[in-house]
Amino acid sequence: SAAPADPFGYIGLTYDDVLLLPGETDVIPSEVDTTTRLTREISIAIPLLSAAMDTVTESRMAIAMARQGGIGILHRNLSIQDQAHQVELVKRSESGMVTDPVTVGPDATLAELDALCGKYRVSGLPVVDDEQRLLGIITNRDLRFVSSSEYETRTVREVMTRMPLITAPVGIERDDAAALLAKHKIEKLPLVDAAGVLRGLITVKDFVKSEQYPLATKDGESRLVVGAAVGFFGDAWDRVTTLVEAGVDVLVVDTANGHARLMLDMVRKIKSDPATRGVQVIGGNIATREGAQALVDAGVDAVKVGVGPGSICTTRVVAGVGVPQVSAIYAASLAAKPAGVPVIGDGGLQYSGDIAKALVAGADSVMLGGLLAGCDESPGDLVFVNGKQFKRYRGMASLGAMQSRGDRRSYSKDRYFQGDLSDDEIITEGIEGQVPYRGPLAAVSHQLVGGLHQSMFYVGARTVPELQARGRFVRITSAGLKESHPHDVQMISEAPNYSSR
Ligand code: 5GP
Repeated sequence: SAAPADPFGYIGLTYDDVLLLPGETDVIPSEVDTTTRLTREISIAIPLLSAAMDTVTESRMAIAMARQGGIGILHRNLSIQDQAHQVELVKRSESGMVTDPVTVGPDATLAELDALCGKYRVSGLPVVDDEQRLLGIITNRDLRFVSSSEYETRTVREVMTRMPLITAPVGIERDDAAALLAKHKIEKLPLVDAAGVLRGLITVKDFVKSEQYPLATKDGESRLVVGAAVGFFGDAWDRVTTLVEAGVDVLVVDTANGHARLMLDMVRKIKSDPATRGVQVIGGNIATREGAQALVDAGVDAVKVGVGPGSICTTRVVAGVGVPQVSAIYAASLAAKPAGVPVIGDGGLQYSGDIAKALVAGADSVMLGGLLAGCDESPGDLVFVNGKQFKRYRGMASLGAMQSRGDRRSYSKDRYFQGDLSDDEIITEGIEGQVPYRGPLAAVSHQLVGGLHQSMFYVGARTVPELQARGRFVRITSAGLKESHPHDVQMISEAPNYSSR
């Protein structure tokens, strides 16, 4: 008779259980290419996503991530309008040409102008009449000699620089536009059609940015690429369509257990509805081969893996559920790889070396929460504790994130299928804490990606696909892990990419 199946299944391994074997190499770290697939249709130059968490990713982080060559996923613990506005801020932050520039009417007061510039974080606006014909432009230059006490009474018409302005036709070549800006020493070039109607805007800032951030993740119009998290309960479809209208590139249908019928229904709906099917859809989270297969079958453009590995997460102790992350990534890749669907390893990374481990295990990119929460660009202020600087970081299933505030509903509850519970009935699956302040994202990502370059040098891989093909693991014991970290020495200064736990 057949032996009974082993009720304990397989042994799950995580980052600390494995190391990569060094291999033959003639790779120079600074020359490797870390380009990878984010989704079926979008590539990114560095394999990093910032987590959809309210202490990690709002528009500032999303802009910074895209500039570095990764992508930010805007969290969804805010109203539909607020989240859509964040998408707009990212999409408007830079571009080859703004096709739909923010404008102001001539009769607006300077105070109204100021509010508009603040809302969209821009420094000057074209002035148009009711038919969108260009009347002039108003920038800091025009406002320099107006005292703020006059803002309520004076109008745009009085201080703007009137037509004729230097303008260009729609479709002007990039180099020609740059030459025009330089020749006339202007910062903004309105694009107009034969009838004088404003059709677009090119700004000098965008040229500077594209030189400064050569790896930036951009769409077909040279705008930064951005993702946003959505759920599937209640007004989720409204959120989906509003985000798509705002220009979102990637939707992450984001829930604690992505192997759920409602999740699969939402993926199918987004991928089939004419209004939304142009957007890339990431589904998650799952931690098994079957979970990944269900998402692949529903039509996702990438699968996100991780049940319980997060640094702020208590799912594995509260529910006793999860799969150690390296094994979870591997299991998911068994279903995703044959279908050509990229895998994202979400959560649990502590050091730069974990990025290469995730990629070798079968991921194409990783999502980071705790490693990025200490950046300048993450939401929230610095906190000082005993003279050291920290930033708050909390799980989306922590009490603070799940509680509704005033009349504001908590969308975070939905992620954990607890939308029907009142605030005092919440079962938390995360904690609230703080992480050391890390400075600007550019510096943090430089260290993380630099670590990956070193991994690729050791393995002998010039590209991410080569790393995935050549990488081999060795399993280690707790003695091996102890040996891996600095030991038997009292650390007197922290390295920029290493702090003890
Ligand atoms: P980290 O990079 O900090 O290790 O993990 C970040 C990831 O943890 C997020 O991308 C998300 O998938 C997950 N996460 C965020 N908040 C919570 C939470 O409160 N509980 C659980 N179970 N997971 C969370």
